[in-house]
Amino acid sequence: MPLQKDEAIVLTKKAYGESDRIVRLFTLSGGKITAIAKGGSKSQKRFMNTLEPFNHIRIEYFKKQTKTMARIENADIIESNSGIELNLKRICTASFFVEFADKLTKEGERNIELFNGLKGILDDVKNIEFTSSDIVFYLLRILGCLGFMPNFNTCVQCGRDVPDEDKVFFSRERGGILCPVCSQAIPFKSYPRGIIRGLSSFVRGDRCNGDLDFLTYAQDIMEGFISFHLDVEIKSYKLLKNLI
Ligand SMILES: [Zn+2]
Repeated sequence: MPLQKDEAIVLTKKAYGESDRIVRLFTLSGGKITAIAKGGSKSQKRFMNTLEPFNHIRIEYFKKQTKTMARIENADIIESNSGIELNLKRICTASFFVEFADKLTKEGERNIELFNGLKGILDDVKNIEFTSSDIVFYLLRILGCLGFMPNFNTCVQCGRDVPDEDKVFFSRERGGILCPVCSQAIPFKSYPRGIIRGLSSFVRGDRCNGDLDFLTYAQDIMEGFISFHLDVEIKSYKLLKNLI
C-alpha cells in the first residue's frame, strides 16, 4: 500500500466522531475519492484550514484496495478558497458546480478535464460575481467534461447539419436539436431563433451576455435536458437561482 501523492479539489467535508473529518476530494490523477483525516478537527495544527471545501490542495494518502475510504497523511494548500466566502452568492455558485460534479462522477474515475474545469470555475468565482449567463456557460463546459454535452449542431435523428436559422426544435429526450423534417416525427419543444445558436456559441467558448429572454429559454433547455438525462437533484441550484 504505497503512499499516494496527488493534487485535489476539496468538494465536501463533514465531521466524523469527535476529532476526525471525512472529506470528498476530486483528485487530478485518481478522480473522486472519499478520505478520512484522523484528528482533522482536534489537532488544529495538522490540517488547519486545509481540508475546506473549494480549496486546491496537495495531498498524501494511503488507500487499501479493499477499503472504500482513503486515509489522509498530509495535506497542504496550493490555492485557498479565499474570496468565495465573501458573499452568499459566491458560496452558492461554488457549491452548485461542486455538487454537480460530485453527483455525476463515480469514485476512482480519472477525469483531468473535469479537474481543470472545476479549478477554473472556482478561480473565477473568487474574482467575479457570476451572472446567469456565466452559470449556463460553465454548466455547458462541465457537461462537456462529463461527456454529456447536448447536441446543438446536427439533427439527433438523421445526423444532418442544421443551419443556424433552422435551429429551433430541441428534443429533450434525444438530447439535441432536430431538423425541420425530423421534427415532424419526434416530440420537441420549439424555441425562438437565436436561442440554440447562442448556446452553441457558448459550447465553442464564445461568451456573450444574453438578454433576459435568451437566458430564460436557455435555462429551460438546460434544466429540461439535465432533469431528463442525468436524474440528479442539485440542492444548491434553487437557492442559486433565487440569488441571481
Ligand atoms: Zn433530421
